[in-house]
Order: sequence, then structure tokens, then C-alpha cells
Amino acid sequence: MPSSRRAVEKARFPLWAAGFVALACVAILALSAWREWESRGVELRNAEVDMANLAQSLSQHAEDTFELADTILAGMVDRMEVGGTSPVAVAKIQSFLQSRKYNRQRIRGIFVYDETGRWLATTEDGDFSSFNNSDRDYFQRHRASYDRGTSIGRPVKSRSGGQWIITASRRFNHPDGSFAGVVLTSIDVAYFMQFYRRFDIGPNGAVSLLTADGIMLARSRDDAGAYVGRDMSGSPLFLTMGQRSDAGAYYFKSPLDGQERLSFYQKSSRYPVIVLATKAQSDVLAPWRRQAVTRFGIVTGLTLSMALIGFFLVRYLAKGQRMAAALVAKEGDFRLIAEQCSDVVMRIGLDERILYASPSCARILGWEPARLLGTSALAGVNPEDRPRMEQVVAALKAGEAEEARIIYRANRRQQQDIWVETALRVTRSSATHEIDGVVAISRDMTEQKDLQDKLAALATSDGLTGIANRRHFDERLVEEWARAKRDGSPLSLLLVDVDHFKKFNDQYGHQAGDACLRALARILAAQVRRPADLAARYGGEEFALLLPNTDAEGCELVGENVRVALRDLGMLHALNLPSKIVTVSLGGATNMPSQGAPDCGSLVAAADRALYAAKDSGRDRLVMSGQVVAWPGAKSA
Ligand code: GH3
Ligand code: MG
Ligand code: MG
Repeated sequence: MPSSRRAVEKARFPLWAAGFVALACVAILALSAWREWESRGVELRNAEVDMANLAQSLSQHAEDTFELADTILAGMVDRMEVGGTSPVAVAKIQSFLQSRKYNRQRIRGIFVYDETGRWLATTEDGDFSSFNNSDRDYFQRHRASYDRGTSIGRPVKSRSGGQWIITASRRFNHPDGSFAGVVLTSIDVAYFMQFYRRFDIGPNGAVSLLTADGIMLARSRDDAGAYVGRDMSGSPLFLTMGQRSDAGAYYFKSPLDGQERLSFYQKSSRYPVIVLATKAQSDVLAPWRRQAVTRFGIVTGLTLSMALIGFFLVRYLAKGQRMAAALVAKEGDFRLIAEQCSDVVMRIGLDERILYASPSCARILGWEPARLLGTSALAGVNPEDRPRMEQVVAALKAGEAEEARIIYRANRRQQQDIWVETALRVTRSSATHEIDGVVAISRDMTEQKDLQDKLAALATSDGLTGIANRRHFDERLVEEWARAKRDGSPLSLLLVDVDHFKKFNDQYGHQAGDACLRALARILAAQVRRPADLAARYGGEEFALLLPNTDAEGCELVGENVRVALRDLGMLHALNLPSKIVTVSLGGATNMPSQGAPDCGSLVAAADRALYAAKDSGRDRLVMSGQVVAWPGAKSA
């Protein structure tokens, strides 16, 4: 089912969003870390290139120095072998060497030893006749070997100056080829040290000059002299040198201070020396580390803020979704209630148009809900009830009341109007709390209204005759009295009493009596023609006719009509002499309530007196109050 799958996907959306935010954060951090690692690599490679350039330059420098020494040695060997070691020749050499003192920046000194190690000549000053160098390595090596090449020896402390020197030496021979002595040049270690110190290789970096077999000749940082002469052949670099090319990068952890170092070595192609330029990785990477920490800190901060914002957004999203789901469920419940409700539920906008109508309006009003949407809610109200309805709606819209209840007639499609009871309640916008419409719940009241009408009629009518009862008469009398007083109009009353009715009952029975009373009531009802007139049973066989806005003449006319109409009916009443038919006596009274008559009771009393007068004066007649009846024995009422 695609819709349910869509719903599940929708429900998972916050989860997806959370996943995406987390992934984005991790990706940003990972990318940033990778970038920093890359730039670290670039730093190291740059440092490697710097070191390589430095090592190559310094190797060249060392070669130049040793080449100079070599040239001098070759020249000296030539001189010694041609001139020999006779005192004359030695004196010549000595003076030659003394004249070479000017150039002692690189080559510190030149020395000539005979086959016993005794000093023959030197560029040094002072008395050296007692010095013997036969104990030196190089001396013994040259004496033992026929190799006539230059030998670079271990650094030694100078016998003449006491400083560290590097020696470059060659053997010279007697004319017979036997060992005649050694020619030696010394180079100050300090010369290399000072030269190497000119290069900026960081506080923990160093440039070293070593022999090919690992003897330290000079080192840029060797304040205590701990390095010069040291045998480094056991270090990993030298142990693996056999497999290495002539130049290359070399990373190692210093056994001395535990620091990671990056170095570049360069073997000399011409002399058995190696230059090793070394930088501490910490020095190389220090600027990178500072920048990387700052950059990564900023990225991490931004990512964390992003994650935090994402977290709140996702939480808000999930909450919104839960709320929306709850709202949908709630709306469903309410719709169910509205749609299952037998009453009509309507939602009406401020413009009085119907926004929603529940299905029951088809049954109650005869219109399908869809047909009512957008139409005026007041259109179906009976025109007579509409002003009342409009008043109620206006009061609700004005905020004068929150709810109202109104009963009115409503049009039912193609049928008679129905009575509807509607409960109205204002609705308010949840955002602004302003009134935004009305909810109307309407119920068909027609049956109840009919019943009510019937009950009202029963309450006001007389059970036997169907005309108004005494209670209703009393109410109407008070009302009409007040109206007449207001309008300045006359009010007339006729009291009607059946003559000798007791005897009628006795003669014909009670049922016949009842029928007689009903017949009389019909005549009375027929005589009241104006809407305001009222015929009522006053009590027993006594009736009353209330005639508003009727003067004495009119009253008399109506009374006379009643009397004659009954006579015309000609109902037998043998005991009612002399006519022997049913007759009535009538007492009439007319008052002008606006002209000082005390109250309605006075009207009744006057009519009653007139009735008595009619009875007394012989029955079957009408006597008007205040009328002198021209009849023997008649009383003035
Ligand atoms: P009069 O001419 O003086 O009025 O004499 P009368 O007999 O009519 O007067 P009275 O008031 O003495 O009698 C009234 C009688 O009306 C008594 C009663 O039996 C009878 N009556 C009152 N109400 C009813 C009724 O509802 N049905 C019947 N059949 N008789 C009634
Ligand atoms: Mg009576
Ligand atoms: Mg009577």
C-alpha cells in the first residue's frame, strides 16, 4: 500500500534528517582532518626538499674543502718526494709552509712527519722538534699501506692548538718506494660548525658531517663537544647504508632525546664523507600545528554548532510531526463525532458563509453538505425569524456573548419549514485568539414544537368545548385591558349563562347537557370574528366573550346575535318555560380603561351584574351594564 509506505517514510523523516546532519558533521570533520593531514604531509615534503637542498649544498662545500686539502697534499707529496728529507730540503719546505699561512680559513695547518712520526715541517708556529705523531691512526695506516691516496681520518685534538681537527693525509715515499713519512692537512672542526650554524634548521635541527663509515666529523650543534669523533656506525642509518642510494630522506626517532626527526643524507661522490641535515619534526610542523589547531578548532566549533542546531531542528521536526499526527487523529475523532451526530454541525465563517456542514444536514434540511458549502448560513432561516437570528449572530460576532441558543423555522428543501433549535458558539483563532467564526449545532425540533403547541393549546383551552378556558380568559382580559388603556379604546365583555340548565341536566341527562354546552360554544366561537375577540368557557354553563376595541353597541349586537343564534338552533328544553327550547341570558359591559376605570375586575363585575339583571328580568335576554331594562321587575345592572 503506497499511502501507508509514504506515511512510514514520512514518520522516518526526522530520523533521516538526524542521520543526514550526523553524517554531514562527521564528513566535515573527516574532510577537515584529512585536509590537515595532507597539509602536514606537504609541510614534511617541503622540509624534506629543504633538507635535500641543504645537504647537497653542504656536501658540495665539504667536497670543495677536501679537494683543496687534497690538492695541497698532492703538491706537498710531490715536493717531499722530489726534495727528500735532508735538513736543507726540510728547511725549504718549512719556509714554504710558513709562507702559506695566509690562507688558513679552511685549511688550518699543513704538517710533514718523517717515517718515525717526528715533525719535519708545519705551518704552525713554535718549537715542535719534540712532537711525534707516530701514535696517530692515520700515521700507522699510511705506514702500513702502500695506498698513495688521501685518507680522511677521525677528528683528533690538535697537538699544536688543542682544538678539534679533521685530518686529510697522504703518505710520501723514499725514492726506493719505502715509507718516508706523512703529509697532513688539518681542517678545523669549528670551521664546519660555524659554517653550518649559518643555516636556519630550527632549535632542534642539526647538520652533521660524517665519514662514510660513520665517524662524526663536525656537527652544527655540539656545544659540549660530545659529538665530534663519535662513532655513529651503529646507528640505523649506517647499519642500512649498504642498501641505500647516495642521497635520500631518512626519518628516525632520536635515541638521545626521543624526538622524531626528519633528515636528508648526501654521500659525497668524491670523498668518503656524508652530510646529514636533520630537522626535528616538531620544529617543521610547529607552524602547521598552530594553524591546524586553530583551523580545526574553528571547523569543530562550527560543526558542533551545526550539530546542535540540527539536533534542535530535528527535535522540533519530530515534535511537529507528533503534534501533526495527534492533530490528524483528533481531527478524525471530531469529524467522526460530527459526521455520526444526528444533529447538523456547521462551521460558519465571519462572513456568515458555511465552511463545513455535517452529513446529517441531508436528512434534516434536505440538502447535501457539499451544496451548502459557501452559501449563506442565514439563507435557510424563515424570513419571520431572520431578524431575531441576525440579532443573535451580530451579538456573537461582536463578542457580547460566547454562546447562544435560538429556536426558529428553517426551510427544508421542497417541504414545509421545520422548527430548528440551534446552539451557537463562537470559535477563536488559536494564534490571535480573535473570533473567527461560529459553530452551530442544529436539531430538528418540529415534533417537539408541535407537541409543545398542543400542550400550550391544551393549557389554554377548555377540554369539553375546545374554546379558551378560564385561565386563558383571565390572562387575555388583563392583556386586553392594558392594551385598551394604552390605545384609549373601549373594551367590552359579554357573560353568557344557560337558562335553567340544572333542569336541562335533570331532564335530559348530563351527556345531553354537555352536548348542549358544546353547541353553545360553537355558536360563541362563530360569533367572534375579529382576531382579537375571545370566546371562553367561564365556568360550568357560563361563558364569556371578550371583545376588544368594541363599544357598547357592538357588544350588544354580538350578544343579541348569540342569543338569536341559539334560539334559532331550537334545542328542546321542556322545562324552560315559556319557550321550551334552550335559551341563554347575557350580561354585557363596556369600559374605557383609559378613562379612569379602576381595573379589569370592574368590567367582569359589571357584566356579572348585568347577567343577574337579565336572569332576574325573565331570562332569554341581554342586559347591558348601566342599561335600564324595560321589563317588568327588571333591575338596573
Ligand atoms: P339559572 O337559569 O338560574 O341559571 O338556573 P340554572 O339551573 O342554570 O342555574 P344553576 O347555577 O343553579 O345550575 C347550573 C347547573 O349547570 C348545575 C350543573 O349541574 C350544571 N352544569 C354545570 N357544568 C356542567 C357541565 O359541564 N355539564 C353539564 N351537563 N352540566 C353542567
Ligand atoms: Mg349558572
Ligand atoms: Mg344557568
